[in-house]
Amino acid sequence: MTVHGQKGFKFQNWAKTYGCYPEMYFQPTCVEEVRQVLDLARQQNKRVKAVGGGHSPSDIACTDGFMIHMGKMNRILKVDKEKRQVTVEAGILLMDLNVELSKHGLALSNLGAVADVTAAGVIGTGTHNTGIKHGILATQVVALSLLTAGGTIMECSETNNEDLFKASQVHLGCLGIILTVTFQCVPKYHLQEISFPSTFKEVLDNLDSHLKKSEYFRFLWFPHSENVTVIYQDHTNKPPISAANWFWDYAIGFYLLEFLLWISTFLPRLVHWINRFFFWLLFTSKVENRDLSYKIFNFECRFKQYVQDWAIPIEKTVEALTELKTLLENNPHVVAHFPVEIRFVKGDNILLSPCFQRDSCYVNIIIYRPYGKEVPRLDYWLGYERIMKKVGGRPHWAKAHTCTRKDFEKMYPGFQKFCAIREKLDPTGMFLNACLEKVFY
Ligand SMILES: Cc1cc2nc3c(=O)[nH]c(=O)nc-3n(C[C@H](O)[C@H](O)[C@H](O)COP(=O)(O)OP(=O)(O)OC[C@H]3O[C@@H](n4cnc5c(N)ncnc54)[C@H](O)[C@@H]3O)c2cc1C
Repeated sequence: MTVHGQKGFKFQNWAKTYGCYPEMYFQPTCVEEVRQVLDLARQQNKRVKAVGGGHSPSDIACTDGFMIHMGKMNRILKVDKEKRQVTVEAGILLMDLNVELSKHGLALSNLGAVADVTAAGVIGTGTHNTGIKHGILATQVVALSLLTAGGTIMECSETNNEDLFKASQVHLGCLGIILTVTFQCVPKYHLQEISFPSTFKEVLDNLDSHLKKSEYFRFLWFPHSENVTVIYQDHTNKPPISAANWFWDYAIGFYLLEFLLWISTFLPRLVHWINRFFFWLLFTSKVENRDLSYKIFNFECRFKQYVQDWAIPIEKTVEALTELKTLLENNPHVVAHFPVEIRFVKGDNILLSPCFQRDSCYVNIIIYRPYGKEVPRLDYWLGYERIMKKVGGRPHWAKAHTCTRKDFEKMYPGFQKFCAIREKLDPTGMFLNACLEKVFY
């Protein structure tokens, strides 16, 4: 059994914002084949990067060395019904895992917005959803195994190699090739989603009350306006219902929005009206949906976009959002596409989790690229980053930011500890790339 590499492969991330030409592209089917790739890389002094679903909006998965696509290592290895735990190969897509878990009467207690992402990929960058009693997705991991640069398989969990475990839960792809992941699951459940219109002021004035009212509370703010959509998701025993929305279901809304956003690249102030128009068109009435949990958590994202998403201390939510709104009001030439998505996540003790030791509020901003056209975003991006830094924020590892090692040293109490673990496991930097050099050098 010898793994074969492919030359001339072009990798592009989902948003088509970053890509690369790896020298060799491998699709191993088992641990032995991954080991062969690492052996070859060691002999030839090459760098290696694993890629999962390729959904990271940044260049964190890019390399000009060897790329290992984990898509053929996607089996479910063990379902422990008593403990409600599932062990999977790291390349399994969550969309496949969700369906399989459901057959066993199980589910993950929280999920991000999309499902064509892998087990190792989502934990690696600290993927999160919302719910102040829920941590980032990596907090659902109870054990994992990885193959180090030296060719050793390391197993770790809360009780075995604990330091390595706390580093590997958000691993940034730089500790080794993650081979297996064990998730703690919960009994399969249904969710009811209720979304209703509100205002910026109302939501910020009553934040605590919203957080108490719904297990998975989040809201969407339509910048350049007061408009907000509140979204509650909660457990339910009622039968599934789906609110028909012909505008989204038949993609008419997407085509119209893309066209209008393209026009607005010539008339930037039009964005203020586009944001208001779409709120009026789609979000002014109460909408109710009920279904299996993963069908409610996930949605189909059709738009390629640039994105930033920082986690700030939860007590800074009002201050940060008010400043962001003021920034836009004082600078009408700055364009902010809808929505700004606000989510809430429980603190944890994972070394590089943006929620390390604090409950957090994530503020997700986007700029679309209508028909692939670039919309100027520098002023918005820098203004947002300045506010996020001022209130003690930490950027999402998979999304845009301009931070370097100096920033991360200040942001993360456990940063040095993570670095020491990484340097011990990978002294030559086999698993680094240009993106990670900014983090570690
Ligand atoms: C439409 C869309 C919606 C999104 N929604 C959310 C959201 O709701 N919340 C959120 O937090 N994020 C969200 N994201 C970001 C996304 O969840 C993360 O980028 C996630 O890491 C993607 O998983 P992936 O499998 O595609 O990983 P990739 O992008 O392929 O890889 C991510 C990192 O993991 C490493 N890696 C992958 N597999 C392995 C392995 N086996 N061993 C070692 N390293 C590995 C890669 O090298 C890379 O560093 C979204 C992205 C998109 C495009």
